[in-house]
Amino acid sequence: MHELPITQSIVRIVCDEAERNNLKKITEVRLKVGELSGLVPDCIQYYFDIISENTIAKGAVVKVEKIPLKMKCKSCGFTAKLDMFKENKCIKCGGNELTRVSGNELYIDSIDAE
Ligand SMILES: [Zn+2]
Repeated sequence: MHELPITQSIVRIVCDEAERNNLKKITEVRLKVGELSGLVPDCIQYYFDIISENTIAKGAVVKVEKIPLKMKCKSCGFTAKLDMFKENKCIKCGGNELTRVSGNELYIDSIDAE
């Protein structure tokens, strides 16, 4: 249930950005959201509709692109989605020291406005 504060900042950021560029109405907001963030796109849209009620972002569609969780082998540098690694071992070299390279992000990719 952390969509609420996150959506509040998203609405604030896109409205600021649109006003800076003299735009009158935001029609679409595209977000990139890591798999690990646990954010539910429907919840973001739900809160967005409420929070943006009296702003120029009212009625905008929120599109969420999921970024998969990816891991990297420390020994050989092989990088792939987590499910490519069997039992947390590298399929190339057998190394078991994996680090996360993506999956936790959340950012505004772009907005459409008039
Ligand atoms: Zn490896």
